[in-house]
Amino acid sequence: MPVPRPPVEASKPAPEAGSGEPAPEKPVQGPPAPATQTEKPEPPPPPPPIPEEDAAAVAACLTELRSAGAVVKEAPRIDPENGCGIARPVVVGQLASDIEIKPEATLRCETALQLQRWTRDAVIPAIKAATPQKRLVALNQASAYVCRNRNNEPNGKLSEHALGNAVDIAGFTYSDGSRLAIAPREKDATIEGALQRAVVASACLYFTTVLDPGSDAAHETHLHLDVKKRTNGYRYCW
Ligand SMILES: [Zn+2]
Repeated sequence: MPVPRPPVEASKPAPEAGSGEPAPEKPVQGPPAPATQTEKPEPPPPPPPIPEEDAAAVAACLTELRSAGAVVKEAPRIDPENGCGIARPVVVGQLASDIEIKPEATLRCETALQLQRWTRDAVIPAIKAATPQKRLVALNQASAYVCRNRNNEPNGKLSEHALGNAVDIAGFTYSDGSRLAIAPREKDATIEGALQRAVVASACLYFTTVLDPGSDAAHETHLHLDVKKRTNGYRYCW
């Protein structure tokens, strides 16, 4: 049986001043156009330029990454002039001599370095404690640099992914080919649950934003990690 459709509203008159109905919201756009001219929405103001990066800081970052065994190359500036971009992007294929990042990730160097530090100093020891017979061989990334808004919404704030500040981790691959996939594990009583909770908690020491399956429905299958700078070093990790 067909579902009855709501009455068509096309014949409804437009709300007028004093009719009691709120007028549709109009953005503030400077002086009003002459009444005779057809009203056209003005284009939004141009987005701010992408943040520049200090060449010496990036060079030091690359040195630290490489000295810890990372395979990383510099890439040309990304600047589509729409608010997205990275002044000095790096492409990371391996975080250490025996740990790949799959697929390779385009990021700001700082993001790659924090990912390496977290993996080496927190993730590997946690895996060793949880499953000593397994060895980490790859991080599975689900998103690195991409020009988009937060949660892929058409209108809204630019994602930290669009500035190279963020990386999404979907899972960890072990030398035997098995994998710990990020999943809702808040009440998971297994060692995998304990391991995921441990690596998520430690991530807040390296990243200023950590979103996991407990954060919201958009992060059920991955961790969002970013290095966004906030006032007073504030961190968002729950
Ligand atoms: Zn993300």
